[in-house]
Order: sequence, then C-alpha cells, then structure tokens
Amino acid sequence: MTTSAAAALPLSHMLPLTAGVSSEGHLTLGGCDALDLVREFGTPLYVYDVRTLRAQCEGYLKAFRDEHADTDVLYASKAFLNRPFAKFIADQGLGFDAVSGGEIAVLRAAGVRMDTVYFHGNNKGPEELALAVEAGVGRIVIDNLTEVALVEAAARAAGRTQGVLVRVSPGVDAHTHEKTTTGILDSKFGVPIVTGAAEATIRAILEAAHLDFRGLHMHLGSPIFELEPYVMGIEVMAAFIADVCRDRLGVEVREFSPGGGFAVAYLGEQHPPAMAAYAGAILGTLRREADARGFALPHVTIEPGRSIVGRAGVALYTAGARKEVPGIRTFVSVDGGMADNIRPAMYGSKYEALSAERPLATAEETVTIAGKYCESGDILIKDIDLPRLRVGEVVAIPTAGAYQLAMSSNYNLAYKPAVVFVEDGRARLIRRRETAADLMALDVD
Ligand SMILES: *Cc1c(COP(=O)(O)O)cnc(C)c1O
Repeated sequence: MTTSAAAALPLSHMLPLTAGVSSEGHLTLGGCDALDLVREFGTPLYVYDVRTLRAQCEGYLKAFRDEHADTDVLYASKAFLNRPFAKFIADQGLGFDAVSGGEIAVLRAAGVRMDTVYFHGNNKGPEELALAVEAGVGRIVIDNLTEVALVEAAARAAGRTQGVLVRVSPGVDAHTHEKTTTGILDSKFGVPIVTGAAEATIRAILEAAHLDFRGLHMHLGSPIFELEPYVMGIEVMAAFIADVCRDRLGVEVREFSPGGGFAVAYLGEQHPPAMAAYAGAILGTLRREADARGFALPHVTIEPGRSIVGRAGVALYTAGARKEVPGIRTFVSVDGGMADNIRPAMYGSKYEALSAERPLATAEETVTIAGKYCESGDILIKDIDLPRLRVGEVVAIPTAGAYQLAMSSNYNLAYKPAVVFVEDGRARLIRRRETAADLMALDVD
C-alpha cells in the first residue's frame, strides 16, 4: 500500500509515527488501512503502532542513560497491560512498575524477569505482598508505616530479604488534575517529610530483619507538562537524602526514582516537553544536588506509563445515530464510550478526533461525540469541528493508548474491545473482543 507523508495529516505530531494516508485517502496505521482493520476486527478497536512503542521505549532508555548511564526504565503497567504486551515491553529492555497482584500475575505469566518488577501501591494486601515476595520482585516500594510490618512479615515467611524503596511525598504540586496529583501533602500516596513520617518509616525498615532499605521514590502525578515540579521535588528529596537519611539515620540512598508522569499531547495545541528535556531537568538537578550536598549519584529508575503507550494507541469507532437540537448541539454517537474510555467522564479529559475514511477532509460542522452507554456524562468529545460524519463512518481518536482499556469496564455489559498491534502493513490481534460467553464466564447458577 502507498502511504503519503504523515506530515500532510492533521494532528500528525500526536498520531503514531507511522500514521499516513492510503492511495484511497484513508488513515493508515503501521502501514494498515484503518478501514481494513475495522473490517477484520470490528469496532470499537484499539490499534497500537509497534514502531511508536519501540521508539518510546528506546527513546527513554537513551535520553536518560545519556545523562546517567546507571538508569533503568520501568514501564508503569497500569497504563495498559496484557500478556503479549508485557512480553513486548520486556523485549525492549524495560522493567515494570506493578500495582496489584493481578499485574504481577500477568507479568509472571508473560515470562517477565521478576527482579525487574517494582511493586507499588498505597494499600498492598497481605496476599499480594506474599505473592510479590514469593515471585521475587526486585523492589517493593513501601508507601506507609503500616506496610513496613506487612512486608517484613511476608519476607520473613518466605525466608527472604526483600529490597525496598520508600515512597516519599515531597509536598510538591505538579499542576495537573486534582484527581491525578499525587505528590502533595494532602494525598493518600507516600510518606510526607514534614510530618516526620518519612523518617519514621525508614527507621522502622532499618530495624526490620528481612528488609533491605535501598532508597527513595517519588511520583508527583500525571500528566505533568512542566519541568519545574520535577526540579522542585528532587531538590526536596536531595535535602532529605543528605540531612535525614545520611546525617540523622546514617544510611546511604543507593537508588532513587522520580516516578513517571511524563505528558503526551491529547490536543493539537499541546506540545509536551521532549524526553531529553525531562531527562535533563531530572538528572541535571539530581547531579547538581548530589554534588552540592556530597552524596553519590544513586541508581535511577524512571517509570513512564502514559508516555510509552499513549501516542502509540488509536481508538477506532463507528459513527451511528445523529441528534440535532437546533441552536443547542449536534450529537453524533459512536459504538463505544465510557466503557472503553472513562477519562472524559472522570477527569474532564479532552481529545481530538478525525474521520478514518477522510482524514484530510475539512471541517464542516461542530459536533459532540457521544458514547453509547446509559449516562448523560458519556460524552467522548464536546464540541469538535469535523466533516459531516455519515452513519457507518469510522472515527479515529488519537492518543488512546494509555488508561483507556486499562480502566475499561463492562458497564451496560459492554464487550471490551479487541486490541491489535500493527507493523509493516500487518496486524496482529493481541486481545480478542469479549463475547457474551466472556461476560457470563464468572456467573455461578
Ligand atoms: C501511575 C504511576 C506511574 C506512571 O505514570 P504515567 O503518567 O503513566 O507515566 C509511575 N509511577 C507510579 C508510582 C505510578 O503510580
């Protein structure tokens, strides 16, 4: 198939790297005509462009290792995970951040090396912790004082010494949505420095026989479009490393994670910082602070989730019913919505859309793209300028790769969509669409 330069496409800076236009004028992804994909796999369909995924993985490894060779990249599994996806990410040389026993089980089944898995969460249960320790996860990131005893108990029971980090809340506002800011004092995540909880937690770890204190972690929220929150957070953490960990507790911080949260563009006008800019700000600040305060640069792990998978994913829907309320609004409903993408309803997230059939067509009207589920709040995009969509026309929503399927539900007993990998003109199904039998599989009559 011939695909013309992606530069001709609107929104090309936020579509997958391989996005193009076929000789018929259709949107192509990974060399596949989007309409062919829809004919084969149906809609709603989630398409992941393999080349974009690879570029993101390689890009983070390179950008951060160029600044500090002793850096590892952990993919934040919660952004999207299934077995083949985990295997793909591991093959790119990334480790994983997992936040539940379920994620650990999938990573394990995918054959991921368990020492590359870091286990997070503000309320890990005893069973999850036992599973994590027994599976041999590389680090457990302790989130609160309560957890110290739980992790110690799990490690003792398994007859192991467990390497741990402590998630510290540096008290920095990342200027993102209230529901996704995590580094402020008033957050359920992490132990605050100013209350003394961080110091008390590390003290308890140092006294625990089966815990090996390795270092500190912070995660400020997501998506973070600015570099300053990272700089400020690392300055706070560096002072804590020197003044509290070293000078008061006499313990070295050998490992440090600034978390994830790197932004992606959801709207045409958004231009998030480049990976190299995040890497420069984060590692430049860490190096400067380490030099100034006289501690060795620790091993660094970063945890990008959204920015690995966001841009690689495109959601394809079929347009259906049209409702015009003169003088008020025109609704065009698609065959998906909040069951596969809760983000607009939950965070007020905004998106772009284009016709997969006519991606180059000029806008003719302002419409609201509605989902098909039984909630008035099930609106995917409010007021977007598009060509007049026909019934049956395929609509593409870019930047669909992160936190959409991962948060998807069976609301209205919707079937969760199929997922395909596309590369070099070939599509590979990595998750089939759910069926009625799947929906009833757990029922006990
Ligand atoms: C969610 C999360 C991440 C990933 O955030 P992204 O915005 O997807 O990069 C990283 N670390 C921790 C601890 C998280 O909870």
